[in-house]
Amino acid sequence: DSSTLSRIGLAGLAVMGQNLALNIAEKGFPISVYNRTTSKVDETVDRAHREGSLPLTGQYSPREFVLSLQRPRSVIILVKAGNPVDQTIAALSDHMEPGDCIIDGGNEWYENTERRIQQISNKGILYLGMGVSGGEEGARNGPSLMPGGSYQAYSNIQDILMKVAAQVEDGPCVTYIGEGGAGNFVKMVHNGIEYGDMQLISEAYDVLKHVGGLSNSELADIFAEWNSGELESFLVEITADIFKVKDDIGDGYLVDKILDKTGMKGTGKWTVQQAAELSVAAPTIAASLDCRYLSGLKEERENASAVLKEAGLNEEAGFVKSGIDKKRLIDDVRQALYASKICSYAQGMNLLRAKSDEKGWNLNLGELARIWKGGCIIRAVFLDRIKKAYQRNPNLASLIVDPEFAKEMVQRQGAWRRVVGLAISAGISTPGMCASLAYFDTYRRARLPANLVQAQRDLFGAHTYERLDRPGAFHTEWTKIA
Ligand code: NAP
Repeated sequence: DSSTLSRIGLAGLAVMGQNLALNIAEKGFPISVYNRTTSKVDETVDRAHREGSLPLTGQYSPREFVLSLQRPRSVIILVKAGNPVDQTIAALSDHMEPGDCIIDGGNEWYENTERRIQQISNKGILYLGMGVSGGEEGARNGPSLMPGGSYQAYSNIQDILMKVAAQVEDGPCVTYIGEGGAGNFVKMVHNGIEYGDMQLISEAYDVLKHVGGLSNSELADIFAEWNSGELESFLVEITADIFKVKDDIGDGYLVDKILDKTGMKGTGKWTVQQAAELSVAAPTIAASLDCRYLSGLKEERENASAVLKEAGLNEEAGFVKSGIDKKRLIDDVRQALYASKICSYAQGMNLLRAKSDEKGWNLNLGELARIWKGGCIIRAVFLDRIKKAYQRNPNLASLIVDPEFAKEMVQRQGAWRRVVGLAISAGISTPGMCASLAYFDTYRRARLPANLVQAQRDLFGAHTYERLDRPGAFHTEWTKIA
């Protein structure tokens, strides 16, 4: 009796799977759930009951699970990326039929998805690689969803995804991304951009704290204030909240007790690797990744701090703190953060475009900015402006030359340079802000010193060069002339 069958299934009931399953059930779609370790099935069934008698059925074997679904069957899997996904596909697909569909919601490397699309097509099974952003909260109440792969598979569950995704004023935060591994790739770049945002915010904090002398409670107020303006975003909002939390097992604030070593799971590294593969400059995202690596060298840094005489505000080198106007510094840092952030997004978007060209994905950059407006970690008011910039001109060479963003960047460069200059003279590193500013200054220069590099290459390797004043490739016997 098909009326007792579930509309969709979800396998993998850790943090993400459990919450997404409850979200789907809450939106009125009967769902079957399964997990390798069956205690998590019971846990999820209990939650479904407690959170409002949601239409969710626990299943305890891959076969029962698959057979409990309406055809064509759609099964979302949310297990650890890599081998566990292959193992889960193997266990489930044995019981599936042509026309059924598997949707991997994990942070998977896009080429793994493309391999699986091929493999599973032998059985006539359709496949989607779907980026899911927003963490636990997003999964439960509305994530940003980035499904790529089989369009037919997407159509089969489009109604579910539209209801389950975060809702913003111009629609649900989901769209069909493109073929193959496009959904995973877009999610990967989203995470790379997230690395950049977090790094830039941490630099703003560092400058305000160490150059401006702001206390945690002042920082909480400043970030909360910023969150009501052009910087309004989830990450700025949670940053304000973090500064308010007192240490529950000691004196002072919790943020000051946290070890300064950043963890990571690989998506930022993949983003930087892909940027290099595609010859796209992504210096802000790369600087963020480098900072995570350097943060990991806690002991080495402690040693270097002694050897290289970290002098607080570098007062030995002539930095004078007393002349700093706190109010102006705060305003400058806000502008520097905003301008740096635009450069970082420009890099991420250009990486997406380069990959789209290579793979023929036909990515719609404005639409990607739109589905990031809600649900995900980088959600921010200014994504709406990015959406509009690409609507005005889908072929925009870079976000920073969109007329509106260009105007804002030019207006903010004074503040931006003051912050970076001050940080440099104080010995406080701001690699993200510096990388963004260097990107801006390099990109907008009609003439770069690359002429000299070309001359050097021609001198030592006869690589030839082109001229400004006439066409063709030239080679010079440099040393003979000199
Ligand atoms: P996770 O810790 O990545 O994975 C745990 C789940 O994987 C459990 O259900 C576990 O089953 C299952 N699993 C592991 N090895 C398996 C195998 N060999 N065969 C079958 N199942 C196996 O879970 P998560 O944090 O919920 O993340 C799920 C996916 O979403 C990951 O790709 C993650 O990167 C992505 N993601 C996570 C977040 C987040 O905030 N956590 C946000 C966005 C995306 P058992 O219970 O039987 O061990």
